[in-house]
Amino acid sequence: MDRYFKRAVTALAGYEPPPQERVRAKLNQNESPFDLPEAFKKELLMEAAALPWNRYPASESGALKEALAARHGLRPGQILPGNGSNQLLQTLLAAVIEPGEGLLYFPPTFGLFELFATINGAQTTGILCPPDRPFPLEEALAAIRTGAPKLILLCSPDNPTGRALSRPEVEAICQAAPGLVFLDEAYAEFGGWSGLSLLEQYPGLVLSRTFSKAFSMAGLRLGYLISHPANIDQLRKAHLPYTVNLLTEHIALRLLADPGLLEERVAWIVREREWLLAEMRRIAAVTVYPSAANFLLFRCADGKSLFRRLKERGILVRDVSGYPLLENHLRVNTGSHDENLWFLEALKESLS
Ligand code: PMP
Repeated sequence: MDRYFKRAVTALAGYEPPPQERVRAKLNQNESPFDLPEAFKKELLMEAAALPWNRYPASESGALKEALAARHGLRPGQILPGNGSNQLLQTLLAAVIEPGEGLLYFPPTFGLFELFATINGAQTTGILCPPDRPFPLEEALAAIRTGAPKLILLCSPDNPTGRALSRPEVEAICQAAPGLVFLDEAYAEFGGWSGLSLLEQYPGLVLSRTFSKAFSMAGLRLGYLISHPANIDQLRKAHLPYTVNLLTEHIALRLLADPGLLEERVAWIVREREWLLAEMRRIAAVTVYPSAANFLLFRCADGKSLFRRLKERGILVRDVSGYPLLENHLRVNTGSHDENLWFLEALKESLS
């Protein structure tokens, strides 16, 4: 049946969602180890019961845009919410890329960049970015000068490497770029520098944020783009209506009204990540990289075997060996303290 579909699609391997099975410690999707407090969830459900479920949600929630804009000191017209930031990435590519137009990105990086670029027929240039070396800025600027890409995709802190870009790096790229610069900030709450302060100066900059990590809301699906209102006006046209459901909107508004809970959790996760990094550095058989996100990337002698051995002990991490330059690399996200202890114990056992 391949003839029914675009060649770009039939040629794809497709995104394989990582396993979601019940294990002792699920540390493979960079989720928050903390669900929202049970009493709070019950309260939210009661409140949601009073909403009119037979009616469409606001196509673009004004209240949500206002609350998100207030969070960052921006105007509501600079925000476009959607059903997770993945969906907004899809919207961006659909709105920007004509088949054959240039797209620059920096693998190994977020896998969906390449997937959506391919489906939209972008002419992609990937500049390899080894996780143990500085970001190749000069090479990036040279590629921008010669290729004049319509779109540049950045991710900071990056998944799967944990690398954060600096202000001078992002600013140099924005200055050189003839088209839009997209900066995925899904992990921004956990560290690194944010592009928010460059928005005024560089109208071609588009940021994305998510509620799936720091906000403990991966299951409810909410993300948003931030950019100049003129860009948001165009992006809206390529975006589906009603992508944020009533329940998600209600819960997000309640969380935004009480940022204390989030801040406490993020601070804990960051401390725990640093502790986990120090513990892993004591294990000679793995090389672990510093990270500004809620996960750590590490290298070992035999990644496939270590992945299997960890899984046999009930620890699910992410095998990222399929990414360019990441042979024998695994990624583990910060879990609860118990989960992290189990992971360390299983890691030592598996390597011995
Ligand atoms: N961007 C990056 C860099 C990610 O790692 C992820 C989650 N894996 C996402 C976006 C997806 O976020 P959402 O759940 O908002 O679609």
